[in-house]
Amino acid sequence: MAYALNSLKAHLIIQLNRIQEELLECLSNSTISAEKNLAETLKSHPQTSWVELLEHNVSPDHTTLVKELTKVEAALCQFDIGQYGYCADCEEPISLDELKKDPTKQRCGLCER
Ligand SMILES: [Zn+2]
Repeated sequence: MAYALNSLKAHLIIQLNRIQEELLECLSNSTISAEKNLAETLKSHPQTSWVELLEHNVSPDHTTLVKELTKVEAALCQFDIGQYGYCADCEEPISLDELKKDPTKQRCGLCER
């Protein structure tokens, strides 16, 4: 189990880096100068404060990426506090198969219905 969780964490970190790179690229190439500036701001901030910086500052074009980033960050945060893999509603463990399908899953199959 521990090994499986570690590989999920590694997967989440890869995903996090990919989303961040994609966001930086989108923002740097944006025609909106505020977004270009935001890209510069992000580069000088630790990755953990990105979600906060992004939330109110990007155009709707990027909300999908920001949402993804938020989910991945939340999952990684749960790793840090030892809550990863537990349902946010009933607090039962989420099955490993489900986590493998979506490592950012927050709810078990029953609560999701
Ligand atoms: Zn549940």
